[in-house]
Amino acid sequence: MIRVRFAPSPTGFLHIGNVRTALFNYLFVKNNGGKFILRIEDTDKERSKKEYINQIYDDLKWLGITWDEGPDSEGEYGPYLQSERFALYISIARKLMTEGKAYYCYCTEEELELRRKAQLAEGQSTRYDNYCRNLTLEKIQQFEREGRQPSIRFKMPDGQLTVKDIIRGDVEFDASLIGDFIIIRPDGKATFHLAVCVDDGMMKISHVIRGEDHFSNTPRHVAIFEACGFQVPQFAHIPLTMGPGGEPLSKRFGAMSITEYRRMGYLPYALCNYMALLGWSSGTDEEIFSFDELQKKFSLKRVSRSAAIFDRTKMDWVGGEHIRRLSDSDYVKLSMQHILQEKIVDKAVFTIRPEWYEKVLLIFKEYIHCFDELKERLQLFSDEIEFDTIEPLKGENAKLILSELAKILKQTEKLDEDNFDKVLKELKKRVKVKGKELFLPLRIALTGKEHGPELKQLVILLGKNNCLKRIEQAVRVVDTKEDKGDGTQTV
Ligand code: GLU
Repeated sequence: MIRVRFAPSPTGFLHIGNVRTALFNYLFVKNNGGKFILRIEDTDKERSKKEYINQIYDDLKWLGITWDEGPDSEGEYGPYLQSERFALYISIARKLMTEGKAYYCYCTEEELELRRKAQLAEGQSTRYDNYCRNLTLEKIQQFEREGRQPSIRFKMPDGQLTVKDIIRGDVEFDASLIGDFIIIRPDGKATFHLAVCVDDGMMKISHVIRGEDHFSNTPRHVAIFEACGFQVPQFAHIPLTMGPGGEPLSKRFGAMSITEYRRMGYLPYALCNYMALLGWSSGTDEEIFSFDELQKKFSLKRVSRSAAIFDRTKMDWVGGEHIRRLSDSDYVKLSMQHILQEKIVDKAVFTIRPEWYEKVLLIFKEYIHCFDELKERLQLFSDEIEFDTIEPLKGENAKLILSELAKILKQTEKLDEDNFDKVLKELKKRVKVKGKELFLPLRIALTGKEHGPELKQLVILLGKNNCLKRIEQAVRVVDTKEDKGDGTQTV
């Protein structure tokens, strides 16, 4: 039976880098059948916080990553919070001691440090020199009398250790180069190495899919699994996600919390789609997948061995593609929810004309990558607009276009689907200008921007009076700038 686990340490919010590990585990298990276990590795009391644990539950659920066993849905291998499993670790460590596979180590931090320095001075790699492996009874009694609190060290076996990794293949390690390592600290707490192996072993984890940063720990883990008599799981170490310059993910590049992306209104399955592409490819040119498709297509065999580079532009592209795939009614529902929740539009204002908002929101469906971008887009409909440039408004033609349009609009009852074309035809006739020379000044005067949704849609939604106000604003701005001899500026 395939059993995988995601084992986050609740010392911070989930971000793209660590949630991707959860996603790969989830997709693997959905693709192959089996169980997904959520285990919270909260052994670091100082840094672990309840608030982070709750956020992990929320973020995973929001992404659609659900678990079969975990702290809030106990299964037969619980508890699933490491802080509730301390006694178990101690009993396994004692068993290892009884079997001669672990021993008390009395070395103090200072002594260890001195010996490390000596190793460095001799150009050796630093590792524990197994000093306490074979202490005489007298030495032990002496240390006890001195009141030293021992830790428990695991005896690394001699010889070669093979780590079988689905992504990296078989990798050989010389176990003797690793040195015996601590499994229980002097304060009685288990270290990560012991806790993770006891848990994986007792929870019958068949596949350990985790970040490559743990790869160097794996020979230690294989040795512990074997010493405890647990089945050694299959490993798959997934390459890390890096920033664009190859640096570790930082707040600037992708390490923004999932909660933050969620607040920004990215679609959860768009994020899953993008995260899957960080290291995995379908083997075709296709890159946009629904969550269901990902589950059907995912395979660890197609996970690359090189680091994945976080690319926000690509993430936005994936986000936008998923928005485009929404039905219009789902899009309207979700975007309305977002603008109200984030107070981009005041509820009272919205309630006066929801149908108008519906139309307005729809014209941006083609352009946005996440719903928060509607904030900027909706500024097109605010009372005063900002001009990205006024250059195209300066020539004589532009002035003529604006003044003639104002005249025509004043004589028009209202602007709608039908008479917009008439207005335009009349304008062309009067100013004898067409193409870009006509449309660019119009677009800038009416929206402040050089690009954007189709002008006709915008103008109709703005309505006659707003269009007139904008023409006035544009003329005023150009006149002011020309008087001062300024270049382009925003108002
Ligand atoms: N708690 C570890 C971490 O967050 C995960 C350990 C593992 O996956 O084996 O890095």
